[in-house]
Amino acid sequence: MRIFKGFNKNGKCPICGTNEDKETVLIGIIGTEEGNNIQAEQFHLDCLDLLYDKGRGFLYQKIDSKEDNSTNEEDKSST
Ligand SMILES: [Zn+2]
Repeated sequence: MRIFKGFNKNGKCPICGTNEDKETVLIGIIGTEEGNNIQAEQFHLDCLDLLYDKGRGFLYQKIDSKEDNSTNEEDKSST
């Protein structure tokens, strides 16, 4: 995995929800493959806390979605 020195301010790390300028890795997004290209998302290296599912052959991390906060705010109006 290639490690970049800084974070592109146009995006946000899906794990912490910030664009802090820290060491960053690009991870391909499943379902976006086109030929040899794939879309990728920026993640802070120190936000990764991967688990290895040896039996099924997956390396993964569960991420609580912090990206869509803007749409969730409407739920408060029910009171
Ligand atoms: Zn992060």
